[in-house]
Amino acid sequence: VTPSGSADVVIVGGGVIGLSIAWRAAEAGFRVTVCDPDPGRGASWVAAGMLAPVTEAAVVEAALTSLGLVSARMWPTFAAEVEAASGIDPCLRTDGTLVVAFDSDDRRALEELLAVHRALGLSSEWLSPVECRRLEPLLSPRVRGGVAVAGDWQVDNRALLGALVGAGHNRNVEMRRKAVVCLRGDGTRIDGVELDDGEVLRPAVVVLAAGAWSGQVGGVPPSARPPVRPVRGEIIRLSGPADDPVLLRTVRASVQGRSVYLVPRRNGEVVVGASMQEAGFASTVRAGAISELLGDAIAVVPAVAELDLVETTARLRPGTPDNGPILGPTPVDGLLLATGHHRNGILLAPLTALALVAVLRGESLPVEAKAFTLERFG
Ligand SMILES: Cc1cc2nc3c(=O)[nH]c(=O)nc-3n(C[C@H](O)[C@H](O)[C@H](O)COP(=O)(O)OP(=O)(O)OC[C@H]3O[C@@H](n4cnc5c(N)ncnc54)[C@H](O)[C@@H]3O)c2cc1C
Repeated sequence: VTPSGSADVVIVGGGVIGLSIAWRAAEAGFRVTVCDPDPGRGASWVAAGMLAPVTEAAVVEAALTSLGLVSARMWPTFAAEVEAASGIDPCLRTDGTLVVAFDSDDRRALEELLAVHRALGLSSEWLSPVECRRLEPLLSPRVRGGVAVAGDWQVDNRALLGALVGAGHNRNVEMRRKAVVCLRGDGTRIDGVELDDGEVLRPAVVVLAAGAWSGQVGGVPPSARPPVRPVRGEIIRLSGPADDPVLLRTVRASVQGRSVYLVPRRNGEVVVGASMQEAGFASTVRAGAISELLGDAIAVVPAVAELDLVETTARLRPGTPDNGPILGPTPVDGLLLATGHHRNGILLAPLTALALVAVLRGESLPVEAKAFTLERFG
């Protein structure tokens, strides 16, 4: 039942997750309001935009790899549709990813990664140092070998956020630049959303999609509170000539046991990331983290030293106890969750939006998403 004059759905948080759900839900005919004091400037703003179900497979569980693979397959259609709906190209690049090893220990670790890929039936291919440099001529001659992963892609996450805002706007999604102070209700159902100026919205359904802050929003009954914690990530943006790029595809590397990635954009930008640190809600940029990332990036691709340093940033990933997202229903009527996407929120945005719209329509979650409800945490 929708009280007259208000939205069917209020989404708390306008990152890639909230904005994707808002656009898809509005397309499906719901009246949608997004509340966020600073939409599109959380973790989604700084992310590298990798769509990496395969190269992330070693660090996540098999069910999460399957979820990522399904979402990756949705990306070509999702990108084309958000561009058609907004006029903004999110710059999906399907030229694959090269993972390289810097020394012999890194090479052993990479051989293990390849074995994990094979055990999971994922297609990736071992390359000699010469074959690596044939693909990426500016790689350091010290590189000891690599793995080509055709199925790991990238989008320009900042262009994507602009496209999602535009697509939502064109479907009459209302954007309220206000923080949600608390949800109101009697503990069994939500009947209001209180904003920081005192206004109370009365939607039929609330979707909590506030990223790393999802566990902090007031008034969420304990039975529905998502176990989300902030995980700091520091990341660097460099710029170079678009017509003479240092890299042709995403390169991930293991350098003396440390991970670094370099994600080249068509405009000459190269995104270098990223640290992982549990430090509460601190989101400052540490000199040591930047020094280590830049040092490792230059070790792998020496020409990176000549690029311009444009930006160093930190944001908070929404981490969960098992690194998987939390999607769909809660024990509280009128409250849905779409949070906890940790390292893979850009990758998982299409599938998350599909799943949440299914639940809004009263349908069940897509089969791959069923293992990712709040219920699994007991
Ligand atoms: C350095 C780094 C690199 C990354 N690289 C990748 C990558 O390559 N590929 C990938 O798939 N993922 C990547 N990620 C992860 C990805 O960025 C996140 O999983 C994703 O952005 C989460 O999206 P979100 O919408 O849940 O959160 P956010 O983008 O953080 O959005 C949450 C929003 O909620 C709002 N909010 C908070 N509290 C309230 C409130 N009380 N009321 C209203 N609004 C509120 C905030 O203002 C914010 O805009 C990376 C993350 C980091 C930090």
